[in-house]
Amino acid sequence: MSTIFTKIVAGEIPSYKIAETEDFYAFLDINPLAKGHTLVIPKKEIDYILDAEDKLYADLWKFAKKVGLAVEKVIPCKRIGITVIGLEVPHAHIHIIPINTIYDMDFSKKKLSFEAEEFEEIASRISIEFNSL
Ligand code: AMP
Repeated sequence: MSTIFTKIVAGEIPSYKIAETEDFYAFLDINPLAKGHTLVIPKKEIDYILDAEDKLYADLWKFAKKVGLAVEKVIPCKRIGITVIGLEVPHAHIHIIPINTIYDMDFSKKKLSFEAEEFEEIASRISIEFNSL
């Protein structure tokens, strides 16, 4: 059985796509902690990120860096917070979150919600920046 993120990569479940390469995919988190909260995943189904083989692991972080730089260009923030939780979806993913205070990384707080048009607009703007890097 494939994960929800594999279904997203396959286009079976919709996502607000930011970027895609042969091995990786980036899309907006549907229950974001902040505007521009993005998830970066390997297309290969790996549950626990530390189980990824070295090259895939390193390349995933390299891809995540580029995504983070693109998010930063679109969403005003002090820094991009980067973290891995992985307790909910059993498909490795890196959270890229625009932050201004440490509390912006608090996963227990109430998530934001946006209209589809706003998600689409954010994703499109970040995607344009990603492609210009
Ligand atoms: P965790 O596994 O604890 O790192 O959390 C999984 C993250 O995936 C959460 O922030 C969810 O909001 C996010 N998420 C779950 N399903 C989707 C989806 N269909 N599209 C985008 N983000 C999702």
